[in-house]
Amino acid sequence: MTLTPNYNPLPVTLREGHGTTVTDVEGRDYLDFLAGYSAVNFGHSHPRLVEAVAEQAKRLTLVSRAFDHDLLMPFANALTELTQTEMMLPMNTGAEAVESAIKAARKWAYDVKGIEPYRAEIIAAEGSFHGRTTTIVSFSSDPDAKDGFGPYTPGFITCPYGDAGAIENAITENTAAILVEPIQGEAGVLIPPEDYLPRLRELADQHNVLLIVDEVQSGLGRTGYLLDQWRVGVKADLTTLGKALGGGVYPVSAVVGRADVLGCLTAGTHGSTFGGNPVACRIGLEVVELLKGDYLERATKLAPRLRERLEAMVEQNLLSGVRTVGLWAGVDVHPDLGLTGREVCERMLQCGVLAKDTHGASLRLAPPLVVTEEELERGLDGLEAALKGDLPS
Ligand SMILES: *Cc1c(COP(=O)(O)O)cnc(C)c1O
Repeated sequence: MTLTPNYNPLPVTLREGHGTTVTDVEGRDYLDFLAGYSAVNFGHSHPRLVEAVAEQAKRLTLVSRAFDHDLLMPFANALTELTQTEMMLPMNTGAEAVESAIKAARKWAYDVKGIEPYRAEIIAAEGSFHGRTTTIVSFSSDPDAKDGFGPYTPGFITCPYGDAGAIENAITENTAAILVEPIQGEAGVLIPPEDYLPRLRELADQHNVLLIVDEVQSGLGRTGYLLDQWRVGVKADLTTLGKALGGGVYPVSAVVGRADVLGCLTAGTHGSTFGGNPVACRIGLEVVELLKGDYLERATKLAPRLRERLEAMVEQNLLSGVRTVGLWAGVDVHPDLGLTGREVCERMLQCGVLAKDTHGASLRLAPPLVVTEEELERGLDGLEAALKGDLPS
């Protein structure tokens, strides 16, 4: 075995993907109800994205930030306009965007807020998922992600997710930022109380603390909003974007937000060889254009049907819990069925639908936003059949 065993994929080997459908090496088709954890929001091999990569690959692929290129400022302008922010910092992966936001917040805390070196604290939430770097796993509460990787980066405090009062109590004069997901994706699509993010916004304002919202998974259409924070009327100081920003064809991430915060990262203080490269910017520009289309409306329009079908499965005692926003759902397999999330996903695979378990008996559903009503029904038929054990022979 030459491959590091840090994943345990479902037993299927894919070779092609178009729209909502992926094909395995034997030629069997599956509906993709995971969509690369929302990276493939626009569907596999979107013609405009494929065209953009091919065209740009023939023109200019990498200059590093040692030189400028003709697409960097256009992408910065387009993304800040789309997200109604002042400044953007281009990176590659989601974890890098979060790391960059943490660095910007700390720099701001020392240079602007005047916290004593090196006392800055960042308050995060229990059950969060922000990536896999040593600093990020330092405040993870998932033993698989954290144990064995110490010594851990200090300067983080965690509070129960959804509890604004706990965060209020945790704020001190050394608090630089609050870092949360607007919905916890990896944890099983956990939706906090409606007033959670608005309360955090108020606390951040009251205490001169930054609010960093990680929208790597929730952002760019998944919940029917360009940024999920807009669903509850909140504007973060820094927002991290990733996954769908690269349209599922390329790693593209960014931090967008306040110029007086990101502006603390002056020349030489932070960087990335590939961040903001010409191919990434070309794809990012195309993604910004796509997001002006009807993807958000589609997510909103199909959302009630997704919820209705899943709630019917609760009534049939197939599921014990359902959480949905837009085209995103976390479901808990009913304990009476005695099935793990993994077993349900393996059965769904047999039914021609790909999904992924999260923790224990929970599953996450996130079909590409191009999913048709008929495909949505078919994918949910697959889940229902898997739960009932009605498997094809
Ligand atoms: C996936 C994810 C990340 C990490 O992104 P990578 O590209 O895998 O590094 C960070 N935050 C959230 C909320 C995510 O869902």
